[in-house]
Amino acid sequence: MDHEYFMRIAIEEAKKAYIKGEVPIGAVLVVKGEVIAKAHNLRELEQQVLNHAEILVIKEACEKIGFWRLDDSFLYSTVEPCVMCSGAIVQARVENVIYGASDSKNGCCGSKINLVNSGFFNHNANVISGVLAEECGLLMTNFFKELRKNKNSNEDRKCYKKI
Ligand SMILES: [Zn+2]
Repeated sequence: MDHEYFMRIAIEEAKKAYIKGEVPIGAVLVVKGEVIAKAHNLRELEQQVLNHAEILVIKEACEKIGFWRLDDSFLYSTVEPCVMCSGAIVQARVENVIYGASDSKNGCCGSKINLVNSGFFNHNANVISGVLAEECGLLMTNFFKELRKNKNSNEDRKCYKKI
């Protein structure tokens, strides 16, 4: 598997989120070398806490495959999955998780805790971290830098007005 190739597709998804004013995280689900689903974070636009990129990509993949088990799949995410997404990864039996930037505050694939490969549950996923990490992380850094700048200049951002 060419992890960088698929991570670049996830990065393109993250950029779509960025443009929409969403925290720039993208995800791709691959089975047998084929992209089954692509998604990006849509939490703010839809005011839906469940709409993380990884949850959306898992949902889309299940719909396309017509089965809830995503055996032999590779889930690519630009940022380390959170507690909710890591739970979904275990539930969906995702075989491999490949992520870009680590998330020291919320990451549950090795940073805070490793839920997807803990030995506590009936499924464990392989984890590969740090694929195009710099590029993935830079999107996040730039996004939050811009967000702070805009907040400081009192420029109203529709998506973040409640923060
Ligand atoms: Zn998440």
